[in-house]
Amino acid sequence: MMIVDEEIRHSLGDRRFELPGGHPAHRRMRELLMSEVEIAEFESFHQENNQVQIRWNHNRLEELGLVTSRPPRGLISKSGSRPLWYLIGLEEQGGGEEGEINHSERLEQYQFRFDVDRLLANRAPLAAALATDGTEALAWYIPFHDTSSEWGIYIRDIGPRIIANRCFPDLLRTNPGEALELAFDFLFAHEFFHHISEIACTMLENSNLSNPLYRPYFDRLVSGDADEALEEALANSFALDFIHGKQNKDGLRGLMDDCPPGYRDYGEYQSKLHFERGLDWLASMFTGKPFSRSNRYTFGHGLFSHPNSVFNRMKVPLHETTDRSPCTPALPICIFNNIIVPEDIKNKANHKRTPPNARKQFWKCIDKLRGSQIKRNRRLEKLDRKDWFKFDVTGGWRMVLEQISPGKWVVRYLDEWDKYMRYRAKNSL
Ligand SMILES: [Zn+2]
Repeated sequence: MMIVDEEIRHSLGDRRFELPGGHPAHRRMRELLMSEVEIAEFESFHQENNQVQIRWNHNRLEELGLVTSRPPRGLISKSGSRPLWYLIGLEEQGGGEEGEINHSERLEQYQFRFDVDRLLANRAPLAAALATDGTEALAWYIPFHDTSSEWGIYIRDIGPRIIANRCFPDLLRTNPGEALELAFDFLFAHEFFHHISEIACTMLENSNLSNPLYRPYFDRLVSGDADEALEEALANSFALDFIHGKQNKDGLRGLMDDCPPGYRDYGEYQSKLHFERGLDWLASMFTGKPFSRSNRYTFGHGLFSHPNSVFNRMKVPLHETTDRSPCTPALPICIFNNIIVPEDIKNKANHKRTPPNARKQFWKCIDKLRGSQIKRNRRLEKLDRKDWFKFDVTGGWRMVLEQISPGKWVVRYLDEWDKYMRYRAKNSL
């Protein structure tokens, strides 16, 4: 049984609305749909291809197999069953034909444990999303006031993995399942608070039907104005409360402190008293007032608390989304239209002291990279200097490539591994 059913939604009548243009789901739609080519272009040209407004469209994602809807669920209980999609990769690999141990180790490394900074360095759209939208880069809530049929909580598949790697690295090493569940719980609880908040506002709205409240309030919430972001601070504080262990909480605090205003202000609402005061302020914002510490809707916090019998029925449809181009493994995608091999590199490659295998592989790699418009390759690794990359020519030989303009590359270095390491250190690559 869901407390918000179609009957309740229907009864909202013309108080329902289409998602406002500022809602983060529109931005996520664009990122979820981006192909490798588009991401590579985005990253090469550092452009915000934002000119064309792409609107949130659940049905389109469903057609493309990028969203999976789950039965509605309530707030996490520790005994509750959580989705297992993040374990599927491991299960599928079980019983593989050859080199199982190496293979699954590698898989685990790429699927669960990765360097978030490197991932973000390689995925500019995702990094931009986190910087702009905080928690909503990884999960978002479509209110039941929305006129489309698919309201609920959306969790992006990379979301729990980013949080687990960034916030619970030790737990991820010892108990990856638990780390991912905890990360999932955090995102779900944050979004669930938006649901609690929508219900609270609807209760106020119902007391005076001539005056729609949620729609104008929601417009302000998603406007991107830091003064309207109180609900995000409360949602983060609420979600943090569901996370056990000081180390885990501190890990999340580190993440939230880097988030945009609002999201990062969770700390002001951590005690019960301050949280309730925050709810009073939020309720006053529902009525159209600006955020102010003197605008307290004195009994506002009562709108957010419910007897267990009601709370247990407050279930929200859950939808899991996948990016069209997988965000993990954290490998760079590059466009290779042209690769210039300068004379000194040619001489190095063809030199009689260069092992025949390295020579052969070098020219083979150059041909292969040139022939491929787009490359995502485990042997290609981004270096610290902007637009510089390392490529493993053989087990022992490395080359360094620089992208001098979009799609146009120059080989800067070619040598054995230990010499490459010295070259890299010397040039602070
Ligand atoms: Zn939020």
